[in-house]
Amino acid sequence: MKYDYLIVGAGLYGSVFAHEANKRNKKCLVIDKRNHKGGNVFCENVEGINVHKYGAHIFHTNDDELWRYVNQFVTFNNFVNSPIATAKGKLYNLPFNMNTFYQLWGTKTPEEAKAKINSQIQEFGTDNPSNLEEQAISLVGKDIYETLIKEYTEKQWGKKATDLPSFIIKRLPVRFTFDNNYFKDKYQGIPIGGYNVLIDKLLEGIEVRTNVDYFSDKDAFDQLAAKVVFTGKIDEYFNYCFEPLEYRSLEFDTQRLEIDNYQGNAVVNYNDKEFTYTRIIEHKHFEFGNQAHTVITKEYPKDWDLSKEAYYPINDEVNQAKYELYKEKALSIPNVIFGGRLAEYRYYDMHQIIASALKRIKTEFNES
Ligand code: UDP
Repeated sequence: MKYDYLIVGAGLYGSVFAHEANKRNKKCLVIDKRNHKGGNVFCENVEGINVHKYGAHIFHTNDDELWRYVNQFVTFNNFVNSPIATAKGKLYNLPFNMNTFYQLWGTKTPEEAKAKINSQIQEFGTDNPSNLEEQAISLVGKDIYETLIKEYTEKQWGKKATDLPSFIIKRLPVRFTFDNNYFKDKYQGIPIGGYNVLIDKLLEGIEVRTNVDYFSDKDAFDQLAAKVVFTGKIDEYFNYCFEPLEYRSLEFDTQRLEIDNYQGNAVVNYNDKEFTYTRIIEHKHFEFGNQAHTVITKEYPKDWDLSKEAYYPINDEVNQAKYELYKEKALSIPNVIFGGRLAEYRYYDMHQIIASALKRIKTEFNES
């Protein structure tokens, strides 16, 4: 066989795996059906502005080792994610913090804000939240839920908040300091020069073929390597034999504007249901750009079907149970490694994907 590993998908998981295998003197071929490397972290340069083609990607991690790992390849700028929410005609700071509470209720001290939230939790909350609505109200009370969460979440997921799993909302931090930093992690930033630099460094010296669809000739591709690392949809790999898993899709409407500053922030959320997009990204602000033009992207959540890109896994009970069936099948083919957001059907952030690929490398090469 020509290669030790055929890696299907040149996203973050595939690129980290390929890099580490290559470092261990294994011969790798990476293929991707898109016309570029990088998967969803790919950026397109529009006259000096790195446009996050598949939605905003802000790197963050709490893990010293992981931070050191990525810093071998790129240096990060000091971007801090502090999204703004627009709701019912007003602007609010995110994540939910003392600034947000002041904007909502005029509360000025943590004590006042806690009293307000706690009284709402007591009145409307529950000890055992069984869905996202109950979970959100039990975390932040009714006002925040109704102003900033309910409509945003329902359009994001295309489902009623009472039909969504509660874990989604656990991603949203709540704090009683005047701190608009969305992520609590020790490290955060955007790679200087953009994410393509990171991907290019990871894949340096490795054969990569883009515009290549694995499923167009799976058997022939499988013949090329001793092992396959598959980072696409696990249900597609098995020909949807247990029925397709559900995903949420997105559509992006990107515009170049001949003004230097459209919204004054990288991310502005549109929380009301009247707007069919969830947020507008102004890409230059990720890298403190001072170009005369700007590029903005409206992000529209969309129902998913087999013809659309799968972005978010829907990890509810039905889909999770279906995934377990696929996973069991995957375990029965030892020469195929399934990894990444789509192959593991998990709502992963970038640092988690990298950690997962590095962990898999350790088992693969019997390292402790
Ligand atoms: N969310 C919300 N209001 C907001 C932002 C987020 O209710 O203004 C909820 C929503 O349910 C969303 C979840 O928090 O699905 C996670 O949002 P985040 O922006 O962290 O996720 P991303 O889509 O960037 O992965």
